[in-house]
Amino acid sequence: MKQKTALIIGITGQDGSYLTEFLLSKNYKIIGLMRKTSALPSSLIAHLSNKIHFAYGDLLDTFSIAETIRSYQPDEIYNLAAQSYPGESWRLAIETAEITGIGAHRIYEAVRYVKPDCRIYQASSSEMFGMPTIVPQNEHTPFEPVNPYGAAKLYAHTMAQIYNKSYKLFIACGILFNHESPRRGMHFLTQKVAYGAACIKLGILNSLDLNEQGEPIVQSGTIALGNLDARRDWGFAGDYVEAMWMMLQHKTPETYVIGTGDVRTVRQLCEEAFGSVGLDWQKHVVVDPRFIRLTETGTTVADATKAKTELGWSPRTSFSELVKMMVEHQMKQIKRKQE
Ligand code: NAP
Repeated sequence: MKQKTALIIGITGQDGSYLTEFLLSKNYKIIGLMRKTSALPSSLIAHLSNKIHFAYGDLLDTFSIAETIRSYQPDEIYNLAAQSYPGESWRLAIETAEITGIGAHRIYEAVRYVKPDCRIYQASSSEMFGMPTIVPQNEHTPFEPVNPYGAAKLYAHTMAQIYNKSYKLFIACGILFNHESPRRGMHFLTQKVAYGAACIKLGILNSLDLNEQGEPIVQSGTIALGNLDARRDWGFAGDYVEAMWMMLQHKTPETYVIGTGDVRTVRQLCEEAFGSVGLDWQKHVVVDPRFIRLTETGTTVADATKAKTELGWSPRTSFSELVKMMVEHQMKQIKRKQE
């Protein structure tokens, strides 16, 4: 069988690294589009760099995307690039619209002109549901985003449907719910909690790593968080990238909700993470109003029945396993730095 070529846009991110490993195991030729500013040596794909062809490009620049597609003629494109942090999307509202929304649109246009038979995976998000009145959410649940990130994702998602219908492109959209891993960015809640629990367990009461306010994540043996009652559906990123690939092997471009269906509060996350190293979370977590979003996202929990039925996809990693994996990873990292 002919070797397939996949172009991964956003290859240096959490999902990009897991997807690269997965597609290499399926014998794909991988092209990674990355920005000139991406730090490859310290990136999540540094260990794979001799197996990847790299192209410089930016979602802000249509020509760099079109030129990469023209040069490599990919069979599949995975668009994982974004200003991906919902909490920061008020501060970076225009950048979020430009990269997360119009950036995806630039890819569709480039594909339309340069290689219209190329299949595209678009990383849509549960943040598009905003404040859902229906719980759990599936592919028919109405969208009502409550932050600039959700709105930008919805723009990209809507344009995908329009391009599928109008130009007969193949753009499959995965509405992915929160997915985490040891490779999650440090500003995301789960990673802050895992890092905080590991630091405090190892006796580090003031950390080197900083939060989004530019302050130590751990200060005087505590971490500062926002709304402890926020409820999320957290899964493992390594399980979710497989669903992305499955969507592009399906006969038609569809939208799929991907999540675990298991909903937990931030409070439960803290309990699990600190508990996994024998600590009482209540002694180490404080609420700081600066971390409360201007408008909170509602209870997002996935009904992934369609993905299970049509693609045969199911998550494999439980919430407890995920949290334990993240805390253990942070413990190892911190100990390594201490040596
Ligand atoms: P991530 O770790 O933040 O990675 C984002 C990637 O986008 C990085 O490789 C970054 O490259 C790249 N990027 C940012 N701006 C770019 C630009 N202008 N041009 C080209 N590349 C750019 O995100 P992730 O967690 O892997 O998520 C992957 C995708 O799924 C994102 O679109 C995210 O919004 C979406 N999503 C994620 C979740 C989740 O829970 N993780 C849930 C739903 C949807 P640099 O190295 O140059 O910064």
